[in-house]
Amino acid sequence: MSTLKEKIIEEIKSAGADIAVFGNADRFRDKNVKFLSPNAKTVICIAARSLRGSRRGVEEGTSYHHFTTVGLETLEETILPMALMRVCNVLEDAGFEALPQRRNQLVMSEDDSTNPEVSYKKIYRGKKAEHTLDFEECAVDAGLGERGLHGTILTDEYGPFQRYAFVITDAEIEPDPVVKPHLCDKCGECVKACPGHAIAEDGTLNRWQCAAYYVGANGTKNPFMPDYAFENEPDRMDIIHGKVSLTPERAREIIDQVNFYPPIRHAYCSSICGKACDTACYIHLEKKGVLSKKFETPFRKRPEWFIPFEDKK
Ligand code: SF4
Ligand code: SF4
Repeated sequence: MSTLKEKIIEEIKSAGADIAVFGNADRFRDKNVKFLSPNAKTVICIAARSLRGSRRGVEEGTSYHHFTTVGLETLEETILPMALMRVCNVLEDAGFEALPQRRNQLVMSEDDSTNPEVSYKKIYRGKKAEHTLDFEECAVDAGLGERGLHGTILTDEYGPFQRYAFVITDAEIEPDPVVKPHLCDKCGECVKACPGHAIAEDGTLNRWQCAAYYVGANGTKNPFMPDYAFENEPDRMDIIHGKVSLTPERAREIIDQVNFYPPIRHAYCSSICGKACDTACYIHLEKKGVLSKKFETPFRKRPEWFIPFEDKK
C-alpha cells in the first residue's frame, strides 16, 4: 500500500505537474505559513515545468503568444490549480486539513511595487490584511531548489523553467532536504540578457523597469514596435535601446505606450522579452551540462538576433 507521500506524488503527476517536495513547516522562515494555518506541519511545494518549446517563438523572433499562454498562463491557471486541488482532496480524504496556495497576481501588500506579469493598473496595492507566502523563499525552504542571482528558483531538472505553488497541511509527512546551492555560479548572464537592464549586478530587480521591458519597450527585441513608437518622448531612442533608468512614474508612462501586442486572458501581460533573464540562465546551465533533463540539441541554435531599430520618425 502506498504512503500518503507516494499518493501525493502520483496525484501531481497525473494532474500534469512534475515535482513535489515536502518541507517541515517549522523550518519555514515565512511567518505566514503558521499565520495562515496555525496547525501546519508540512508545506508541499508542487512544480510544473515551463516547456522549453514555449520559448522557441521568442528565441527565434517568430511567435510571441506561446510563452505567456502555455509557458505561464496554462501552468498558473490550469495545471497547478488542478494539481493543488487533487493533492488537497487526497489529504482531506485522509482526514487532514489542506490549504492550497497559488500565486495571487493582482493583490499585493506593498504600496508602490508591481508585478511585471500583469497590468500595473489591475493590481490592488497596500492590501496588508491579505497574507500571502513569499513564493521564492518558501520554494527554497520546501526543498524545491536554490535561488539564482536574479531571484528565480533553479532546479536540477529544469533550471529556471518551472512554476510552482504550495499546499500547507496539518499532516506530518516525511520531509525532503533543503537543497544546498550548487547551480548558480554568479556568471551574470541573467543580468546581461535583460533588454531593459532591469537587473543590477548584484541581482537586485527593479520591478518597474522590468515591467516596462517585459512587455516590449526595447525596440531591438520587439518585432511589433512601429517606427513611431514613443514619438513624443525626447529620449525615445534611449527607451527603445533599453538605456534609460525608469522611476515608477516614468515606467507607467512608458508601459502605457507599449500596446503593440494584445494581452493574454486572466490579466496576464504578453511577455515580449520572454523572460530573457531566465532563458540566458537556462542556456548557461545547459552549456555547463548540469541539468538532469537533457535534450537532443541545445536550446540556442544561432547567435542572438537584434533588430537595428533606427530613428525614422
Ligand atoms: S544566469 Fe548565471 S548568475 Fe544568473 S542565475 Fe543563472 S547561473 Fe546564476
Ligand atoms: S529579462 Fe524580462 S523578465 Fe527578466 S528582468 Fe528583464 S524585463 Fe524582466
